[in-house]
Amino acid sequence: MEVALFSDWLDSENLLAYYPSMDYAYLTQWLIDYVAAYPAKYRQIDIWRPPIMACAPADERFGRLQEIVVDDHALPVDLLAGARSVVVWFIPFKHYIQTDNVCGTRPSLSWGRAYPSTNDMINRAGLAMKALIEEQGGRAALTPATHNFDTKRVCSLWSHKHLGHLIGLGRYGTNCQLITPEGCSGRMGSLVTDLDLGEHSLVEAEELCLLKAGRKCGKCIAACPIEVLGGNGMDRPGCYARLRENYHLRMEPDGLPDTTDVCAKCQVGMPCSKKSPLPVGGN
Ligand code: SF4
Ligand code: SF4
Repeated sequence: MEVALFSDWLDSENLLAYYPSMDYAYLTQWLIDYVAAYPAKYRQIDIWRPPIMACAPADERFGRLQEIVVDDHALPVDLLAGARSVVVWFIPFKHYIQTDNVCGTRPSLSWGRAYPSTNDMINRAGLAMKALIEEQGGRAALTPATHNFDTKRVCSLWSHKHLGHLIGLGRYGTNCQLITPEGCSGRMGSLVTDLDLGEHSLVEAEELCLLKAGRKCGKCIAACPIEVLGGNGMDRPGCYARLRENYHLRMEPDGLPDTTDVCAKCQVGMPCSKKSPLPVGGN
């Protein structure tokens, strides 16, 4: 049976009859359908589970990014004058992509191939969502899925993980990934708009990482092949050097682009990989 996708309705008058205004529920359903339709539309292998999304008013909380990431981290108004809402989404990988990458100390080719393919999809989804908002009279701005990245300081100047933490899409784990209700094994995108989309967080709990919540774990620390992860964070230059080494050893010979910085041994086969190991509603 052919399934009618919400995105098929985009030009139809029924769309706004179904969702009378462009709100959080509308955009979430649109993104779920976009990801479901993507592999057939762009002839890609279907490696994604349904996305999840959170949003928040573009308020003073984002000033914390300049304290916890870098002092010149971008603010929502730097992307879009008059920004009123920040939207962040997480697209989890299917489980087999994660399982493929569990063994060995170097990343699997399927994991490497998933990286640029997912970045392309996130960029396309962001542009399509921007166009959708503009069709409805709003404005929107976005940054690329990756390489809003300062390679000297080894940090992002628009950190999706930190944005996701601040708006309750997930919580930062010991593995320095965002642990969401759908785990930490996937990729993220974001958008800033002048539409008022309200506050829609998916997580109320203070922590979703077992170790950070005072439970026994630390599996990600043990899984890191170069021991750059610890209870107090990550040696970021050390990790980044490993990603580049992996690219030259494994991904470059496969013809993958220079942006394929991959490892993720601390994100696969973990209790937090496929879903949150703790209740998201409160510890
Ligand atoms: S593997 Fe354990 S310690 Fe590491 S991030 Fe996941 S839950 Fe936290
Ligand atoms: S990505 Fe790889 S090198 Fe970096 S912290 Fe995780 S396991 Fe270690």
